[in-house]
Amino acid sequence: MGVRADAIRVYRDLRRFGYNDSHSGNLSVRKGSRFWVTPTGACADTLRKSELVGCDVDGALGAGASLDANLHQAVYRSDPAVGAVVHSHCPYAVAMTFDGEDYLPPDFEGQYYLPRVSVLTIAYQSYVAEAPQRVADVLARATMAIVRGHGVYARGRDLDEAYKWTCSVELSAKTAWLARQAGKLNPSPR
Ligand SMILES: [Zn+2]
Repeated sequence: MGVRADAIRVYRDLRRFGYNDSHSGNLSVRKGSRFWVTPTGACADTLRKSELVGCDVDGALGAGASLDANLHQAVYRSDPAVGAVVHSHCPYAVAMTFDGEDYLPPDFEGQYYLPRVSVLTIAYQSYVAEAPQRVADVLARATMAIVRGHGVYARGRDLDEAYKWTCSVELSAKTAWLARQAGKLNPSPR
């Protein structure tokens, strides 16, 4: 299967399994000096691979690319080993980091895969200007970053790996939420 077909499959799965709604989030996959990104306003239920927008890693973004396309580009530029970037609005991961503190997974799997997840606070008004470099700086040394009140950015060698990190942090945050509700988990010590 080609990378564009992979991109459609993962983008649909993000919607299908509750990591995004019909139109939220975006993703990209790299091939050589180019990457393919979801278009702005993409609907996960109907998006076709012919609608993905081709961009240059070191040059111009294609017309109609996601508003986050320059963020994806910054991540690819900072690390040639990155093959995919996935952005989702994981509800539990977002809910559990509304305090702006880094996320420390309390569960075994979370601690194994992601010992500490950086949480960035970026003002809505300056998001487009600030987010690309700030998120790229974190993704240069970690598999993912959470932007407070917004969502998760995960990178991987390929789409499946970026998707895996997305699923990992969301299940960890969901487990932490359930444990908190059950009265079995106090807020994590800092
Ligand atoms: Zn978003």
